[in-house]
Amino acid sequence: MSVLVIAENPKGNFKKSAFELTHFGHLTAQVLGTECTALVIGEVADAGQLGKYGASKVVKVAYDGGFDTTVYNRLITQVAEKVGADVVIVNHSANGKALIGGLGVALDAGVVSQINGVPTVDGANLVVTKPVFSGKAFAKYNISSSNKVLSLMGNAIPPREVGSDCAVEDLTIDVPNAAVTIKEVKTVDGTVPLPEAELVVSAGRGMKGPENWGIIEELAETLGATTACSRPVSDTGWRPHHEHVGQTGVAIRPNLYIAAGISGAIQHLAGVNSSKCIVVINKDPEAPFFKAANYGVCADLFEVVPKLNEAFKKALAQ
Ligand SMILES: Cc1cc2nc3c(=O)[nH]c(=O)nc-3n(C[C@H](O)[C@H](O)[C@H](O)COP(=O)(O)OP(=O)(O)OC[C@H]3O[C@@H](n4cnc5c(N)ncnc54)[C@H](O)[C@@H]3O)c2cc1C
Repeated sequence: MSVLVIAENPKGNFKKSAFELTHFGHLTAQVLGTECTALVIGEVADAGQLGKYGASKVVKVAYDGGFDTTVYNRLITQVAEKVGADVVIVNHSANGKALIGGLGVALDAGVVSQINGVPTVDGANLVVTKPVFSGKAFAKYNISSSNKVLSLMGNAIPPREVGSDCAVEDLTIDVPNAAVTIKEVKTVDGTVPLPEAELVVSAGRGMKGPENWGIIEELAETLGATTACSRPVSDTGWRPHHEHVGQTGVAIRPNLYIAAGISGAIQHLAGVNSSKCIVVINKDPEAPFFKAANYGVCADLFEVVPKLNEAFKKALAQ
């Protein structure tokens, strides 16, 4: 019995989410009285650093193809069997979401996605918690199957250092041929991806047009934040689709979410209301977003956002 975490490493480098996941795997293993092994697929510089976050061992499988769910599922299943893992955990990322169902079938496992806290045990069952009803409630799941597959929400567990670098073992695995040919990969460089962002500055139709986004980008730059937007804004092409947050967009959980000129429709809130602190700037005192806000500024965003930016600049310069 052990815990296996799949540490994502795009372009050969770990993302912050890999450290979060490893630490979460370590905490889960502690609860179960076992150890956490981290699986790295492909070449990574310094794979042993996962030991700092609680992995007792890293196993590395050589694979230089792109992300293919069939290949990854077969590969992870074989590794889980080799290392004797009965709990397999992935990030609730685009790749993790694509993997979790197939892994559940392959391992004949109970599957719970999007968990947001360290599990507990109840007899032979593992008890996990996840947000439901667009974050309005939490549900507890008792997983009674012997194998379990989980996905962890981003920003749910801070990646604490608890040890030092660990051993890296190369595993020889029978990697199947890919069923999918990846012709092109387009990635957004330079900013923290939304699911991992700790600070997000977002704006909606209240911006009036794409030409006005400079004030949002400036505020985001001052804070080192990632930019986001409401759905109509990306639907009309004012902003790129990867910035769309909400029920049908990216679900985020930053420490700070600043929303300017967004009404706070239920579908928008579904993707952002797990944020730890929400600041709403809206000139309509009846805007529903104020009910979900920790701080509300009822004013014209074209006056408030530049002032906020100046105030942050001054405060950060001190
Ligand atoms: C099935 C379905 C799924 C959906 N999924 C999503 C989703 O994932 N994400 C999402 O965002 N939406 C989603 N929507 C759309 C959602 O219902 C809303 O229509 C949308 O969120 C509204 O976007 P908005 O707040 O930017 O625009 P609006 O509703 O037009 O709100 C603009 C706000 O800006 C304020 N404002 C205007 N001018 C200023 C100013 N100068 N200063 C300050 N405030 C100002 C206004 O008071 C208003 O509150 C979905 C809808 C459906 C039906």
